[in-house]
Amino acid sequence: MKVVKFGGSSVANAEQISKIIDIVVADADRRIVVVSAPGKRSSSDTKVTDLLIALGNSVIKGEDYDAALEAVVMRYAEIQADLDLNVAVIDDIRADLHRRIDERGDHLLQFMDDMKASGEDNNAKVIAAAFSKRGYPARYVNPGEAGMLLSDEFGNAEVLHESYEKLSLLADSPEIVVFPGFFGSTRGGQVATFPRGGSDITGAILAAAVKAEVYENFTDVDSVYAMDPRIMPEAPAIEMMTYREMRELSYAGFGVFHDEAIIPAVQAQIPICIKNTNRPEMPGTLIVPERKYEHAAVVGISSADGFCAIYIDKYMMNREVGFGRRLLQILEEEDISFEHTPSGIDNLSVILQSSELGAEKEKAVVDRIMQELSPDNVTVEHGLSLLMVVGEGMHYAVGMAARATGALSDAGVNIEMINQGASEISMMFAVKEPDRKKAVHALGNAFFA
Ligand code: ASP
Repeated sequence: MKVVKFGGSSVANAEQISKIIDIVVADADRRIVVVSAPGKRSSSDTKVTDLLIALGNSVIKGEDYDAALEAVVMRYAEIQADLDLNVAVIDDIRADLHRRIDERGDHLLQFMDDMKASGEDNNAKVIAAAFSKRGYPARYVNPGEAGMLLSDEFGNAEVLHESYEKLSLLADSPEIVVFPGFFGSTRGGQVATFPRGGSDITGAILAAAVKAEVYENFTDVDSVYAMDPRIMPEAPAIEMMTYREMRELSYAGFGVFHDEAIIPAVQAQIPICIKNTNRPEMPGTLIVPERKYEHAAVVGISSADGFCAIYIDKYMMNREVGFGRRLLQILEEEDISFEHTPSGIDNLSVILQSSELGAEKEKAVVDRIMQELSPDNVTVEHGLSLLMVVGEGMHYAVGMAARATGALSDAGVNIEMINQGASEISMMFAVKEPDRKKAVHALGNAFFA
């Protein structure tokens, strides 16, 4: 059985919803369909989730919210009319929104979650009706009733482990299950949502619960590309990569999806396939636990700005027991998470996201390092970009680092730092932010031309 998730742009209007029905019924294994709220129909459009947030805010402020409520209802009314569904659907949605508003308690975040969740909830009802209208047996399933139990961290909830057993029963449904993404129910029966974009999480949880053969995630791109197509339009599509490769790539700015979203599928070792709703015949990108990598040593290259480095020099550092621990303890006590710690015999550097180190934090950290570790020198450099060259096969291929450094040197890019991941599935290069694009091009030409 396959669990299939459709993102907001795939369910934004009647035309898109017709496509997803075609996709689902084309493969008898596609039994569980997770849907987002209607997304943008064009780049200037507003997602229903954002309309709902605006509506919720108006209610909280005590403003007149009729227009905001009708703006939400109208999005569904257009879909209902274009799909020729029963008009009662629209009255139900309007009544549902009024009920959520009228029955709200004092907990504002909980109220906002209830509002946001209605986007997926009502869309799943509409889409289940659209399947039935076309003669395919399908049913809407309410997440709370099906056992999707979440922590009560409203807006940022996490699934509770006990959910899986009950959710596994969805595998026995004789009809196609249409399951709203993004939310579940707390133990106390209140609606709670995952972070934004959380329908991906719902899909991953259901795929793990029913032990799906694959979790298909339909969006509006043909596949994941080896490099950011905005920087390198000729970047090749990635046909297959491992979870570890995806994780290394997404870490430096690869926008596949939020890597936390797929944790449940990764833990259950379910392959994930990214596909395009508008071109379902394309193979997409398959993300798997293991792959053979004789040919494609490098699977992708990603890059991101916004990093900084703390450089610490101390003569005889290598003989000093506990130096690294004490340095990292300072960071821990200052509540700073770090990315890499390349080291030399007498120096250690720590790479972090600049957002972790505001001016005040920076001063506190540097002062503490000076006092507690008595180094010869500490400097902080901002404005760094990280480039990750990623591939499981690199471990076995000779000359990969030489190829990368040669390309960067030919392009006149100064490498500030190099780190080969301990796992040897990635090489990291830090360069100055203005050099990032040039560096990405140079590496792209070296590995994919
Ligand atoms: N509709 C929600 C959002 O816009 C969740 C999702 O689409 O995954 O964040």
